[in-house]
Amino acid sequence: MAANSIPDEPRPRRGRLRRWGVRLAKGLGICALLLLLLRELFFSGPYLPSAKPHDGLILDMHCHVAGIGAGGSGCFVSEELRNNFRFGIYLKAFGVTVAEAEAQGDQLLMERLAKGIGESQRVGAAIVLAMDGVVDANGQLDPARTEFYIPNEYVAAETAKHPNLYFGASVNPHRPDALERLQWARDNGALLVKWLPSIQFIDPADPAHEPFYRKMAALKLPLLTHAGQERSFTHAQDELADPVRLRLPLSLGVTVIVAHAASTGKNEGQEDIDRLIGMLGDYPNLYADLSSMTQVNKLGYLRQAITEKQLEGRLLYGSDFPLINTAAVTAWAFPLNLTRKQMQAIDAMANPWDRDVALKEALGVPASVMARPAKFFGVSLGQAGAD
Ligand SMILES: [Zn+2]
Repeated sequence: MAANSIPDEPRPRRGRLRRWGVRLAKGLGICALLLLLLRELFFSGPYLPSAKPHDGLILDMHCHVAGIGAGGSGCFVSEELRNNFRFGIYLKAFGVTVAEAEAQGDQLLMERLAKGIGESQRVGAAIVLAMDGVVDANGQLDPARTEFYIPNEYVAAETAKHPNLYFGASVNPHRPDALERLQWARDNGALLVKWLPSIQFIDPADPAHEPFYRKMAALKLPLLTHAGQERSFTHAQDELADPVRLRLPLSLGVTVIVAHAASTGKNEGQEDIDRLIGMLGDYPNLYADLSSMTQVNKLGYLRQAITEKQLEGRLLYGSDFPLINTAAVTAWAFPLNLTRKQMQAIDAMANPWDRDVALKEALGVPASVMARPAKFFGVSLGQAGAD
């Protein structure tokens, strides 16, 4: 008897499981139908009507490179960032593993960058950004507080090897020889100076930086600076990224480009992007880029940037690679603006720059924004799609 009852035992359990399975499937089906219905009701299409795309090759004016210090690059990553989950994601976006970088040098990442851009049908070249570190009270690089350091010398030397890469310098104004570093950068082909004030601990409003700004203006080096909340690193002092602090360099004649239009983050209870927009009337030398603005945590800001009348003529295309090549960016995040076919087609594109351009264009980024960086930086590129 006992031997007979054992094999029969699982039967009722299996039946229960089947019933639950059917209920779950029904529930999911109803949810999917509801979502489809909601999408039908609220579908609004692109932020701006799509116009004819820019037919020339595009300059990506905001492209990062990473490095672990291999191959004598001088790059540096803090232990904390190296152990952070983000670091592996960044390297993966370049298609390089830590072991490969260790064996072949950081130069491998630069090669992959040049190859990826070379394979793009739409982007013809990129400005690759160096990243200065935190400078202590004695004017020395402070490795304990620097998360990520990419020397100017390395980026200048590497970009010179690849005709589709341009040098974007980074100089912390707290360096005792900051003015000489600016001159060196200009002499070595730098097209701009990049800051990340919230992690480099630079206060753009500090009057002590006046000589630095005057030198930048004299050298005609634009300042590309991150504003808004910074979440790509492990620590950040967000109040330093308040766009209002940029009034000082702007008033001294420096051309300032605010990265990702200061999207995300608030200061004094006001959205940083609104603080930026509020300054446009005062400063014709103030610009913004569209880098990383399709990230899932920035939904809505791209709409605001491209539909804001005051930003017309002030927006530049940038990618913020490698961030565009991570799970933080997907066309599927825009079901109310793109058709299923568009989302599918865009996400299926293998090249990260082609995908980024296609997504931004499908959302309504005008051709003039795509064309602007090449003109702005005086870089001549050929026709799109012509190999
Ligand atoms: Zn960036």
